[in-house]
Amino acid sequence: MSANILDGKLVSATILEEVAAEVSRIGSTFGQVPTLATVLVGDDPASAIYVRKKNQTCEELGMYSIHEHLPATVTADEVRATLRRLNDDPDVHGILLQLPLPEGLPEEELLTLIHPDKDADGFHPVNMGRLFLGRPRLVPCTPRGIMALLDQYAIELPGKSAVVVGRSNIVGKPLALLLLQRHATITVCHSRTVDLAAVCRQADILVAAVGRPGLIAANYVRPGAVVIDVGTNRITDEAEFRRILGDDSPRRSSFEKKGSALVGDVEWRTVKDIAGYITPVPGGVGPLTIAMLMRNTVHAFNIQKGIDG
Ligand code: NDP
Repeated sequence: MSANILDGKLVSATILEEVAAEVSRIGSTFGQVPTLATVLVGDDPASAIYVRKKNQTCEELGMYSIHEHLPATVTADEVRATLRRLNDDPDVHGILLQLPLPEGLPEEELLTLIHPDKDADGFHPVNMGRLFLGRPRLVPCTPRGIMALLDQYAIELPGKSAVVVGRSNIVGKPLALLLLQRHATITVCHSRTVDLAAVCRQADILVAAVGRPGLIAANYVRPGAVVIDVGTNRITDEAEFRRILGDDSPRRSSFEKKGSALVGDVEWRTVKDIAGYITPVPGGVGPLTIAMLMRNTVHAFNIQKGIDG
């Protein structure tokens, strides 16, 4: 039997509608528009596409976006000055520093310079600390999006066993804390985990946030489990395409035309027949991340107005 699809596109469309309604309410109450400032350093083409999409989504929702593009040769002091200026600008409500930064720039220190109340990505130690203490405010977008997806499909969490593969600060760790807050029993796995497949098979809810194409195969999944695939990996190898997506994949012609395909960390071909619920890649977690960035920007606006909703 095939798993039920957790449709991130659909859920993100609902969230974006809610955000647009909130933006319009804010407009009539405050006569102001929530504004997101994006800071892109250097010319990484993927980062440029992500930032453009974020700015474009702001505009579609009736929000403003300001884009600061700094050259790859910029000094740390110049980035600091940009972030301080945006912190001090009362017309900027959310700030996002696009990662990764060019080598040599102190990523952690620069993220810490963003005012916690304007921290649209939720990466500031203050916001991470609040999450750790069970009093989340601005929460990293991908984990927040995954929680929204689970809630939208009424996936039960209390008492369930949740295994998160990946312990990054932007996905694995904050997601584990959010699941814990909702009374799931958490296991966090990483590259040193012994017998990953056996640990994953214990999961009622299995999250893969690794960055290894098709790592999670059928023998990692308990029948009926909820499988959330965060991975976004571009593959070009024909054999890998067949292993992960299958010979009869409807995506084959696009793969042949483009010479590449975007896949997750889950071996879709086999896991879709075992899982109870599964997120596709693309169209699963990805669209929710951007929707949550918009929600965080509105939340940041409200925090600055003293309404910490
Ligand atoms: P990181 O590289 O920061 O972290 C990867 C994690 O996976 C690490 O904790 C690492 O362990 C663990 N890991 C690596 N190899 C293995 C292995 N063989 N077995 C078990 N664990 C392993 O990645 P991110 O968290 O930033 O991203 C993960 C994936 O999610 C990427 O594909 C990324 O592109 C995607 N992503 C997608 C988003 C979306 O919106 N859809 C948003 C953010 C990320 P260790 O700590 O020991 O090194």
